[in-house]
Amino acid sequence: MPLAAVWQEALLRRGASLATLASLLACGGGSSAPAAPAPPNALGVAGDVRTDANAWVEYTLGNAPLIIAAPHGGALTPASIPDRRCAACLTDTDTNTEDLARRVATLFYSRTGKRVHLVINRLQRAKLDPNREVIEATDGNTAMVPTWQAYHTFIDSARGRITTSPGRGLLLDLHGHGHAILRLELGYTIAASDLRLSDAALTTSGAVARSSIARLAVLDVARSAPVALLRGPTSLGALFVANGFPAVPSPSDPAPAAADLYFDGGYTTDRHGSAAGGTVDAVQIEAHRVGARDTSENLDRYAAAIVTSALEYLRVHYGWTPTGTAAAAVFAP
Ligand SMILES: [Zn+2]
Repeated sequence: MPLAAVWQEALLRRGASLATLASLLACGGGSSAPAAPAPPNALGVAGDVRTDANAWVEYTLGNAPLIIAAPHGGALTPASIPDRRCAACLTDTDTNTEDLARRVATLFYSRTGKRVHLVINRLQRAKLDPNREVIEATDGNTAMVPTWQAYHTFIDSARGRITTSPGRGLLLDLHGHGHAILRLELGYTIAASDLRLSDAALTTSGAVARSSIARLAVLDVARSAPVALLRGPTSLGALFVANGFPAVPSPSDPAPAAADLYFDGGYTTDRHGSAAGGTVDAVQIEAHRVGARDTSENLDRYAAAIVTSALEYLRVHYGWTPTGTAAAAVFAP
């Protein structure tokens, strides 16, 4: 499946690449033609940027086991695409999350010399919502289905590359919320009502085994109890708190209160997390605006917290470091 995804995605590469390939094929048979250069590597290398035919969705190939996705931060509003108007369709932009995702990718590279896999929807959400199933995502506009497919095929390709090497990894799906409490809402596709259970009851419920980090709960290098992955001392929430950003769930804020608004995940975490198998886990991160997404300075602070927290999470729970010194632990069954 991952390899198939890689080849599907190869078909979506930019016109320039296809033109190059076409010219190679065209001049391959003539005896008088100059020797053809080596064919392009269809699998690509870290840093290569690929898009759909219209450059509405974009994928930068990575070589670290981290996928950063930003589905709701786009600003493009081509007149050729009608606005989504279905009753259930949300069209609000998650302000500055495309910018944030790019800052995360840049900072990760400057700190580690490795690149994250970066997948971005450049369209405004009124035109396409990749974090929904295809009908709601496109409002039934079949002309937009290939763009939606390209976005998810890019994520499939990133997952395939990570599955090949180093074997396991993490997708962080970046969003913005407007809820009253200024904290990060970490979504593992576990309902708030389940998070409000005691540790013992939450363990018994099996919710973590059905979550978007289901595989991590089995393969965790640190052998944390499943509930500890949600709100223990090395949970993603704990790491964000340590890096200056309140988060739920975390040790200090283990669950949203019954009256709180809280996002527990979405289409991307459902589809691309490990609930249905595979070795790439997914977490949706919904961030408040003031103090995180409102100014360039705060975007830099928040991007730094994401990079620092993700690197520590990958080291502790996946056995991955940028230098590969802990790689032997990655494949622990
Ligand atoms: Zn969103």
